[in-house]
Amino acid sequence: MKLPPTTGERAASDDAFWSGQSVSRDELLQAARAVATRAHSPYSGVCVGAVLLDREGRTFSGCNVENASYGLTVCAERNAIGRAVADGAGELVAVAIATNQDRVLTPCGACRQVLMEFAPDLVVVCVGSGAEALEWRMGELLPSAFNKADLPGEAQGDQP
Ligand code: ZN
Repeated sequence: MKLPPTTGERAASDDAFWSGQSVSRDELLQAARAVATRAHSPYSGVCVGAVLLDREGRTFSGCNVENASYGLTVCAERNAIGRAVADGAGELVAVAIATNQDRVLTPCGACRQVLMEFAPDLVVVCVGSGAEALEWRMGELLPSAFNKADLPGEAQGDQP
């Protein structure tokens, strides 16, 4: 089992995973940086872009959309999931998340749960305004996750 990185330690890139993809890690991070520039974040000033990659090499992007009522704000990751579902994405294999902040930020708890729903083995690579990117598997970001297998009458592998 791979342990999550400690603070300040760079997580290694899963080169074996990325070498099998039609979109490179850098390309996915660049796409996430591009969509982050479209964020609607007049309140926090934190611009986030998320780009999901499916098994067929298709990408699905989202940015954070804040609201004056604050609680209606939707994160970039969940907006990207919405686009992926609506566009008929295949199995989701990776997500790149970029922000305009100095340090690398990771998905919030709500987004971790939503990503886990669709991609329990997702590769998650995050980058801030600098060059450093950190990478995890979904299970490292949300260990012992609640999922459909925990619902009565549901078995692992059934369609939601
Ligand atoms: Zn979130």
